[in-house]
This record gives sequence, C-alpha cells and structure tokens, in this order.
Amino acid sequence: MNFFPSRLEPIFDARPWGVLSLAPLFPERNHLSEKIGEAWLTGENCIFAGGPFVGSTLRDAWKRMPLQWTGTAVRSDGAFPILVKFIFTDDKLSVQVHPDDDYASRHEQRAGGRGKTEMWHCLSARPGGEVLVGLKPEVTREHFRRAIDDGGVENCVARIPLHAHDTIFVPAGTVHTIGAGLVLCEIQEQSDLTYRVYDYNRRDAHGETRPLHVDKAMEVIRFGPQRGGKVQPVTIERGGACETFLAACRYFVTERWEFSTAISRSCSRAHFDLLVTLSGGGDFECGGEKFPYTPAQAWLIPAALGEYRIVPHEHTELLRTYVPANLDDVARDFAARGLSESQIARLVYK
Ligand SMILES: [Zn+2]
Repeated sequence: MNFFPSRLEPIFDARPWGVLSLAPLFPERNHLSEKIGEAWLTGENCIFAGGPFVGSTLRDAWKRMPLQWTGTAVRSDGAFPILVKFIFTDDKLSVQVHPDDDYASRHEQRAGGRGKTEMWHCLSARPGGEVLVGLKPEVTREHFRRAIDDGGVENCVARIPLHAHDTIFVPAGTVHTIGAGLVLCEIQEQSDLTYRVYDYNRRDAHGETRPLHVDKAMEVIRFGPQRGGKVQPVTIERGGACETFLAACRYFVTERWEFSTAISRSCSRAHFDLLVTLSGGGDFECGGEKFPYTPAQAWLIPAALGEYRIVPHEHTELLRTYVPANLDDVARDFAARGLSESQIARLVYK
C-alpha cells in the first residue's frame, strides 16, 4: 500500500443555533435553506475523497488501516480518536458539560463509552463574541443546582471574550457554552456525549424543547478549582513557518502553522497527523506527486509517509493535530523545538 496525504469529505449538521452561510470557509454554501451549526471534518461517517481508502467511511477505513497509517502508538481498535469540527453560531449554544472517559466507560457504553475533552480555536468572532467556560470559584454544588431551576446558570460560569486566533481548552467535567457570532475549529475526543443543563427554554419549529440531562451533569461536573479556559499559546519560527503551540493533552496535541513559502516536514512513526487547512491554498508534495489543498479541508497524513513538502500558492494557515504517544514525548518534542520548561508546563495539560 502506498502512503499518501488523504482528504476526507465534511458532513454538515443542522443546529437551531446555526447559520445560513458558511462563507468564507465554504464559499459555495452561502445561501442555505436550513441553519447549519457544525461541519464534521473527521466524523466516523466522513468519506475519503482520494487515496487508497477512497469511497470508504473513516469508520471502516480506520479498522483496516495498518500501523504505517495509524502510527505505532495509536490505539486503532476503537473509533477514530480525534473529532475535528467547524462550529458556526448565530445564537448561544446550550450550557453543557461532557463526562470523562472513566464515567463514560462505566455509564455510557451504548454511546461509545468515550468521554469528551475538547479545545476550540477561534477563526472569527463578531464584536462582543464570547464563550463561557468553567464555574466561578465561589459556585458550590448546591448553588449550581439551584441556579439550574432559577435560570441563573449563566451567572455561575466564567465569561471569556473571544477574538480570532484565541484558543480555549475545555477538559471533561467543565461547564461551558459557546456564544453567538463565532466560527470555531473544535478538536475533541471522538464522542458525542453531551449533558445539557440549560437551554434558555428554547423551542424548535415544532414547539419542542431539547432534552436536558441535569442528573448526569451533576455527577460529572467539576466543582472547586477549574482546569480549563483560555490558553497562552507560544509561537516560534521553524524552517520557514510560524508555528504556534496551542494545547496538548493525552487525547490531542494541536499547533497552528502559517507560511508563505515551501516548507518540509516529516512524520513521526508513532502517530498519524491531521492537517486542517484554514486559509490559503497550494500542494502537499511527496513521492513525486502533488495533492492540491484549499481551505476548510481535513487531510490524514499517514505515520509512515516520511518526509513531505507543503508548497503554498498563497499564504497558508493550517492546524496540525495528532494523538501523542504520551505526554513525556510531547514535552521532549516541545523542548527540542525551543520551548522553555515554564511554557511547556503551561501548554501541556496532564
Ligand atoms: Zn462541548
């Protein structure tokens, strides 16, 4: 089997808080008849647009992928490990929380048994755009439970104004919601387990409210000191690109790369890479072949690809994300690329 960068087709999902135009990421989708809230780039049902798995869903292809594709350190027996989405909001999302792996494996086997730690990288924000992440320090379990009944939940959660290029880390157990007027790239464990605690008493076109999951939420919410929130990224120059380290945890490591001239990179045998293009255009080049990219695409880069080049025709921004073998390797890699110990401690969530 040959090793190629392989692109996945996105899947679009309607949401009551979504938008009617996905431009500029998807310029052809600018007059939609229903509100789209999410574009899933690496969902289990996404289909390969090229390469040896062309026509297969990610779910089926992942089961068949040899170690040269998955990487030697990535568990390939379950679902594809990283879910990348674009999120488009014209209204607030529900206030929600996700369980961790331990809780999900005990109580949510039928829903995949996997928890959800996530991060958001902001691509654009309307003036006043914000997210709410993490309980305020004074909020106790009793206080929060009362606030759900009183409709005062929003006041319990820390507000974070959001601008393009901001990054937010949201570990499982952290109460959060996303405000209106934002376009985010969300990177998370492959899980759809969400416990809604408050939905603003909204009703859909059929007069229905969406279900709440208050009891489960109360079991998984982290009270006391919070771990998530806005991260302070670190940017370095390396080999012709600006590389910004956004966040690292055991489920994913994410960087933003920006460049205007050709760059060379090489893969680790330990894990595949996902490259998510945000803007620009050009070619991935390897083995004498070219693979043209445009914005808003997800490319799976096989672990055994070795050395490859990215040749931009215009200034390119992309996210690189992968499943690390372990966090000590991540810290060593960050140190080798020039990050200080305090920067590494800040970026790596144990
Ligand atoms: Zn969430």
